Amino acid sequence: MGEQHRGIGMTSARTRERLVQRLAASGIRSAAVLERIRTVPRHLFIDEALSSRAYEDSALPIGQGQTISQPYIVALMTQALIENGADRRPEKVLEVGTGCGYQTAVLAPLVGQLFTIERISALQRAARQRLSQLGLGNIRYRHGDGCEGWPGQAPFDGIIVTAAPAEVPPVLLDQLAPDGRLVIPVGPTGSQELLRFTRRGEEIERELLSRVSFVPLLEGKS
Ligand code: SAH
Repeated sequence: MGEQHRGIGMTSARTRERLVQRLAASGIRSAAVLERIRTVPRHLFIDEALSSRAYEDSALPIGQGQTISQPYIVALMTQALIENGADRRPEKVLEVGTGCGYQTAVLAPLVGQLFTIERISALQRAARQRLSQLGLGNIRYRHGDGCEGWPGQAPFDGIIVTAAPAEVPPVLLDQLAPDGRLVIPVGPTGSQELLRFTRRGEEIERELLSRVSFVPLLEGKS
């Protein structure tokens, strides 16, 4: 490795560590999640022109009018999905909105199997290629409309949605296993809440996690 590359690597190790410290100070408690934020090379998920900003705690454009989520929100959603009283990790998890695949990469090693759906085929292809290069093997991809969930694989121990519908799609609640959790931003642009729903028998428990700003969940595929 040339001096130049080594230099970039060192800078990015330092800036990554700063990001991890910042997320820990903002209330991310899960050591497993913080370790993923430290390990996943976020700069590989964005355009090279923006790589100097890869370890800032902000959302960035990824083309097609879409964004890579803010690291704090990725960490918060991942923690909300995997933390539970039991020591069992979620076995089957569905992600709606693969986008560039960053959230997918953070989450995949923390669950048994990850099923991820993206409606824009160009994004889906790029994400799939990136994630297999990173050696993440427990992921299944689908180009389609995540509003329908993934009926052939349901029920899921966890569902994470990275685009915001106006209302929670009932189909996704229906695809939750007992004690399964749905982490989802809900509401119109400018006024969204990040919610966690947990299936408790016939009841669904609802918790407010944060106020957030996501791109809208759209129907159909393109
Ligand atoms: N998870 C990404 C953020 C993706 S932005 C990250 O880690 O940064 C939200 C993504 O959801 C976009 O790529 C958008 O195309 C996708 N999306 C929106 N509606 C969808 C739907 N109904 N089904 C599947 N994907 C959808």
